[in-house]
Amino acid sequence: MEDSTKTHAVLLSSPGLGHLTPVLELGKRLRTLNFKVTIFVVSSRTSAAESQLIESFMSLNLCEVILLPSPDISHIVDPEAAVFTRLAVVMRETRPAFSSAISALSFPPTVLIVDLFGSDNLEVADEFKIPKFVYIATHACFLALTLYLPVLHERVIGEYVDEKSALFIPGCKSLLPEYVVDPMLRRSDQQYLEYLNIGIKIPMADGILVNTWEELQPATLAALRDRKLWGDIIKVPIFPIGPMVTPASPIDSNKTEVFDWLEKQPIESVLYVSFGSGGLLSNEQMVELAYGLELSQQRFIWVVRPPAQKKSSDGSFFTVGNSSNANEGLASYLPEGFLDRTKNVGFIVWDWAPQVEILRHESVGGFLSHCGWNSTLESITNGVPLIAWPLYAEQRMNAALLAEELKVAVRPKTLPWKGIVGREEIKMVVETLLVEEEGHAMRGRVKELKSSGETAWNDNGSSAKALAQFMC
Ligand code: UDP
Repeated sequence: MEDSTKTHAVLLSSPGLGHLTPVLELGKRLRTLNFKVTIFVVSSRTSAAESQLIESFMSLNLCEVILLPSPDISHIVDPEAAVFTRLAVVMRETRPAFSSAISALSFPPTVLIVDLFGSDNLEVADEFKIPKFVYIATHACFLALTLYLPVLHERVIGEYVDEKSALFIPGCKSLLPEYVVDPMLRRSDQQYLEYLNIGIKIPMADGILVNTWEELQPATLAALRDRKLWGDIIKVPIFPIGPMVTPASPIDSNKTEVFDWLEKQPIESVLYVSFGSGGLLSNEQMVELAYGLELSQQRFIWVVRPPAQKKSSDGSFFTVGNSSNANEGLASYLPEGFLDRTKNVGFIVWDWAPQVEILRHESVGGFLSHCGWNSTLESITNGVPLIAWPLYAEQRMNAALLAEELKVAVRPKTLPWKGIVGREEIKMVVETLLVEEEGHAMRGRVKELKSSGETAWNDNGSSAKALAQFMC
């Protein structure tokens, strides 16, 4: 028999590995605190990595996982619409199915937690008369921007990117117009209205969980709680419960090649290069990156994907899922002879790598990353400094946080007349990170952050306390 006095948390995750991972990790944490946990996952079923993650999570038998089929939105949304728009609409259209699925649970929920895209489902909690929370799986500045968007919407006339000065957000380093998140790039785009809607909905929750920790972003978190600064915009408690990251898995004995190679490399000498679960480069950019790595003469592991065929409507290169099965052809996108010339220093992984396990290896000394928040946290919690190479979503903001505030990343400059990063610049940032004093100092700082992230989860640590307070 179930213990009917137990708190039963129902979590709702939007599709996509980057969204699912932190929700599953939160589910695990709540389970260890003796919550009963049911996780609803709106599954896109397009990503092998996503399916594998769900399967291995289910095999732990910690929490119940219920898949909700992704609703058909083809009659509402242009198939070419931005990923952000499609996710927001999918999650809104999921609401009736989500509500029925909750009614069908044998053990009634006592608390609802939705992620950013699930904000339209907060009202489901009212149907069941239970408290409702939003879990922001990224950082406090992104939360602040999202909450402040309704104010900016009134204050700023015209496009945000055309603003002459930085956007003021209380408690955050002012946001340069060129760093705004993708949904803010064009106000006439539906994704902007979807983002605005999310900014309006979040304060209606009873509290906000955020995947950062007090010691990582003390000023922004303190500001968000300061009524003098934020007035009536946000009155509910904020619980920083990060870092929530996937722990490293045991190394798959059939796939040890990359680890055998890493074992032979000196400590902190290898640059890991990867652009997240779906990031793609143009062919021209891939070629420059290859030459840049070669020129640097540093060791590297590069997760190579086919180049993007065209820019998506939000201006980024992105593919949903790791569905490529044409690995054999990938070498043709790299400069002729590149694989041969770099065979002593480079290791190519086609399409998908065991990222957390690689970042944990002592031979890894840097991460050239698109700065997705999961990748960012995986780098920080393994004490690895970064080359910040943002592609889409809120990654420009993340890159600015890493390079300008936390000072654990170096940012390559784009060639203005070409819109790509040139090989000489790539060579320079790789050397800065792996060889020069500046990179050494970044490594020292990121190790301090690693240790503060660990402390946050000690018995009396800030994130452990925040999660305990959330439970009260
Ligand atoms: N990832 C991985 N292997 C790869 C590429 C990505 O394991 O080859 C994982 C990575 O560890 C991270 C997630 O995919 O947990 C990507 O999430 P992130 O938020 O960094 O970026 P997104 O994919 O959402 O843009």
